[in-house]
Amino acid sequence: MEILLDVHWIDGVTANTYLALGDQTTLIDSGTPGKQENIIKYLQNELKSKPEDIKTIVLTHHHIDHTGSLYELKKLTNADIAAYKEDMDIISGEKSSSDPIYMRFVSKLMTIFTSYKFIKPDISLQENDMVDNCRVIHTPGHTPGSIALYNSDNGVIFVGDTLTYDGNKVGGPPSFLINDKEALKKSVKKITDLEPNIMLSGHGKPLTEHTSEMIRDVYNTL
Ligand SMILES: [Zn+2]
Repeated sequence: MEILLDVHWIDGVTANTYLALGDQTTLIDSGTPGKQENIIKYLQNELKSKPEDIKTIVLTHHHIDHTGSLYELKKLTNADIAAYKEDMDIISGEKSSSDPIYMRFVSKLMTIFTSYKFIKPDISLQENDMVDNCRVIHTPGHTPGSIALYNSDNGVIFVGDTLTYDGNKVGGPPSFLINDKEALKKSVKKITDLEPNIMLSGHGKPLTEHTSEMIRDVYNTL
């Protein structure tokens, strides 16, 4: 679904996945395991592009519903995989996460049942790095290496799971999915200060109106 001419939301991949079209094509998150065909079909049918046109796959954080189809998409696109330095070793499978135990248990089950293959990212991101037209904003709290990607040209911010919008209200992650509450508050403050026009999150719906005010309201409740 087209959100803006240069920003597309790919339906049917369970956790939201986006294509940002700038000087290059960037895929933001890779959906749950087995969703690579949905993503490639969207690219081919809606954008008349080829898999290899995706130059970078950026991960907003290490959770398997966002990295699920990464291994297969790397094979299909040969894109560089980029992730924030704190989540790199978890994405590659070299380190286990510091998630709450419930989340680690669910992740473990998913990796077993989907025959998940870990893959090492190519690019280690840091605060203020640019991925095409988007600036990397480190937003720890949900995971230590969570990021938002902000495009100051169109005011779009991709926030991963740091914030969600259910079509009615903005919220943070549920308490059992918070890795560090104080860090999360600071991260939401960073997002608030950017005053974005459109918020695109890892779950839920696009927030396209009164975006800054709604994010500020949720910050005041954290
Ligand atoms: Zn997550």
